[in-house]
Amino acid sequence: MAVKVAVNGYGTIGKRVADAISLQKDMEVVGVTKTKPDFDAKMAIKKGYRLYAAIPDRVKVFESAGLEVEGTIEDLLKEVDIVVDCSPNKIGAENKKLYEKLGVKAIFQGGEKKDVAEVSFNAIANYEEAVGKQFVRVVSCNTTGLTRLIYTIKKNFPIKKVRATMIRRVVDPKEDKKGLVNGIQPNPIKLPSHHGPDVQSILPDVNIITAAFKVPTTIMHVHSVAIEMEKDISEEDIKSAFAEEPRIMLFNSEDGFTSTAKIIEFARDLRLRYDLYENAVWEDSIGVVDGEVYVTQAINQESIVIPENIDAIRAMLELMDKEESIKETNRTLKIGV
Ligand code: NAD
Repeated sequence: MAVKVAVNGYGTIGKRVADAISLQKDMEVVGVTKTKPDFDAKMAIKKGYRLYAAIPDRVKVFESAGLEVEGTIEDLLKEVDIVVDCSPNKIGAENKKLYEKLGVKAIFQGGEKKDVAEVSFNAIANYEEAVGKQFVRVVSCNTTGLTRLIYTIKKNFPIKKVRATMIRRVVDPKEDKKGLVNGIQPNPIKLPSHHGPDVQSILPDVNIITAAFKVPTTIMHVHSVAIEMEKDISEEDIKSAFAEEPRIMLFNSEDGFTSTAKIIEFARDLRLRYDLYENAVWEDSIGVVDGEVYVTQAINQESIVIPENIDAIRAMLELMDKEESIKETNRTLKIGV
């Protein structure tokens, strides 16, 4: 029988998580929540999701807009085995009180501090640590991208240290209240950025320092990564390690992939909402100089964490082991095909 899942916060991440769950045989979306009766709420109903009010006293706001809700988040939580909290940054920690009260397992997203959960999660790097857990945090888009890349190298070749610079999209494409129109913002100005410690919440033995800058673009982040290796390694070693990992996709400038704009144009033809669940690594960026590996990758922030949320559900509810779950998630989301 399929396990029952709630999605609390049907926004950028929540709608994608709900659609990905709908593609799995071993889990089902019982309901999704919204705080207001906007176009997203109407679309959720149109797609067949049962809609609940994320904030109980908003039920009347939905009703006066003519939108029928099935109840409140509390009603929804009573029907499910697990909730995927996709509420805005820091709200997940507030929502946790309700999950604890009702004894529901919960997955949080990367906008929460790591202490919100017992485990910070990345499927290929530490699936086993989430098995049977009550609270798990799927790390942010940047941390997911970095962790996948570093783990894929590290599992075959020992690493001495990592230095990474992240050029971050300033906001998601749907935003109209904030942004950066004409500037490059060091974020933070004083180094290092929080991304290094966040990677260490999954890979504690990795020596990593990160810097980050926001730029006026909405579609992807770009990471420039330098990895000092313990032993000699060749470009071919790195390329074949990446080629064997389905959650990393290799792109080549010879094929016309000269920027994130071209990668997203490719993804538009490939997937619903141009969701690119994979790290987009430029194959021809891979270089080795004096025992140091250089590589550049792009990350579609809206979709990279979606497969991780599906695997986290399976780990926490002990539905499948690591290999089986990742294989099934990859198959259903058409990752690596
Ligand atoms: P979003 O603003 O697009 O969606 C959040 C949703 O939560 C909205 O539908 C909002 O109505 C709803 N909401 C508001 N208050 C709520 C409450 N009290 N309880 C439940 N729901 C509530 O945000 P998002 O971009 O989807 O981000 C969600 C989480 O995912 C954050 O932790 C964020 O850091 C993380 N994340 C975002 C991205 C990204 O690029 N968008 C990538 C990775 C991780």
